[in-house]
Amino acid sequence: MIVFVGAGPGAWDLITVRGQNYLREADIIIYAGSLVNPKLLDVKKEDCVVYNSALMTLEEIIYVMVAGERERKEVVRLHTGDPCLYGAIQEQMDALEQEGIPYEICPGVSSFCGAASALETEYTLPGISQSVVITRMAGRTPVPKRESIQSFAAHRATMVIFLSTGMLAELAEELTAGGYPGDTPAAIVYKATWPEEKVCRCTIDSLATTAEKEKITKTALIIVGRVLDSEYQRSELYNPDFTTEYRRASRGVKDNE
Ligand code: SAH
Repeated sequence: MIVFVGAGPGAWDLITVRGQNYLREADIIIYAGSLVNPKLLDVKKEDCVVYNSALMTLEEIIYVMVAGERERKEVVRLHTGDPCLYGAIQEQMDALEQEGIPYEICPGVSSFCGAASALETEYTLPGISQSVVITRMAGRTPVPKRESIQSFAAHRATMVIFLSTGMLAELAEELTAGGYPGDTPAAIVYKATWPEEKVCRCTIDSLATTAEKEKITKTALIIVGRVLDSEYQRSELYNPDFTTEYRRASRGVKDNE
């Protein structure tokens, strides 16, 4: 059995209990060395064999998995955050399927959740935004044209942008071309939940200069939207002066009656 485990966003204790148990029992761990905190491996068995997938091809990863399975070893493939986002697990699952090897997925805390907690932000503030767009700029991996940043920006929903720290000037251009005003609050969250975490609040217009000033070039998420603005208006729905379908105003009835 091969288990794909979500390692969480960085902090060693933000893996699930189930995920950590799989690590404790593993005979072989293949971990994403570029993004997974190696401290998570402290719980492994003494004779557990560890591979860093940052140095491996898909074929090499599958080879280790297949060989492990043939020897009836417990194999854990440890992915950063939750494996369902930019984890390239589909191609691994398909290859295992072809070999007739069973697998399971253990979810993890994605970095976009880690970033929200670092920002102490609710991505879905009533009246501001009720949707979160998780996306990325096209880089060496293309993004389908119909999913351009510009087209998503037109909704002015909360956006969490992965894998784009090296393209912030272009990102800002696309966001504003799509309809987000340049002074919309934005944030760069570097290594959310790691000891070296950095939270930089800025605006869409100042994304690139902020990253440059803070020397952030990778391992960051860009968050954009009015939910980051502490100046947001409280909702009328729970305003004592406002009558709704279910509740009469306690201090006099206002306009929409
Ligand atoms: N599956 C992962 C994402 C992998 S893609 C998840 O659910 O989080 C790798 C990208 O995720 C990085 O380039 C960066 O944009 C983002 N990322 C991963 N961990 C991060 C962290 N702790 N803080 C900020 N961004 C992070």
